[in-house]
Amino acid sequence: MTESTSARMPVVFAGHGSPMNAINDSAFTRGWRRVGESLPRPRAILAISAHWFAPMTAVNDEAKPRQVYDMYGFPRELYQLTYPAPGAPGLAAPVRELHGTRATLHDEWGIDHGTWAVLAHMLPSADVPLTQLSVNSALSPRQHLELGRALAPLRDEGVLILASGNTVHNLGEVEWDNPGGSAAAVRFSDRVRDLVVAHDAQGVLAAMDSDPDAPYAIPTPDHFLPLLYALGASDDSDKVEVYNDGCELGSMSMTGFVFRAS
Ligand code: ZN
Repeated sequence: MTESTSARMPVVFAGHGSPMNAINDSAFTRGWRRVGESLPRPRAILAISAHWFAPMTAVNDEAKPRQVYDMYGFPRELYQLTYPAPGAPGLAAPVRELHGTRATLHDEWGIDHGTWAVLAHMLPSADVPLTQLSVNSALSPRQHLELGRALAPLRDEGVLILASGNTVHNLGEVEWDNPGGSAAAVRFSDRVRDLVVAHDAQGVLAAMDSDPDAPYAIPTPDHFLPLLYALGASDDSDKVEVYNDGCELGSMSMTGFVFRAS
């Protein structure tokens, strides 16, 4: 991570994949580290994780949000990983202002593995104030894109918007012995990547809706929707960097994006 700057903060989308990535060392986790090293130091992080998928738009304002171990049946080592970042209570008010009456305060969730598994690599010092915004299960994809758009001014306040999900995420089709992706996963992941690189948010919405591989890639919307926040908070003048471009476990895309002001 480079020293703090007053320049507009980048926006990051991370494909997080298996929770084991929190403690693994792989090409993907090293990709997260490289992204972290390339970022200016944020004043705070607003994370949008697939795993806080709830029927409300909510933001946490605790000084010390709890770390949620929201995954089951993994090795003990994973439950021993701590990511003790301070909360960002000062961020709740501007987020609620930008979202108007659409956003509420809610402190009963915390920071889940969609966020900490990535940040354990991307920002291992765990010293930047951090909070999460929920992904509202009652909204349409277009409304999520609009909420992302509303967050864009935070970039000028030194806030890193970190969206964490997967552009392809199908737990029912996981191939445990496949280190890469199935044909359908690779096709859809590549399609979405090319649309993101082209700043084609409308194309991404259309792919969600009608691409022949979408039912396989997005059996439930939770992991895909965070991408719409990153797309919304970015703009056409941002330079889009693709990193971790690929799949794991057959049906997970790990592809991530960094949107940097040019
Ligand atoms: Zn996940």
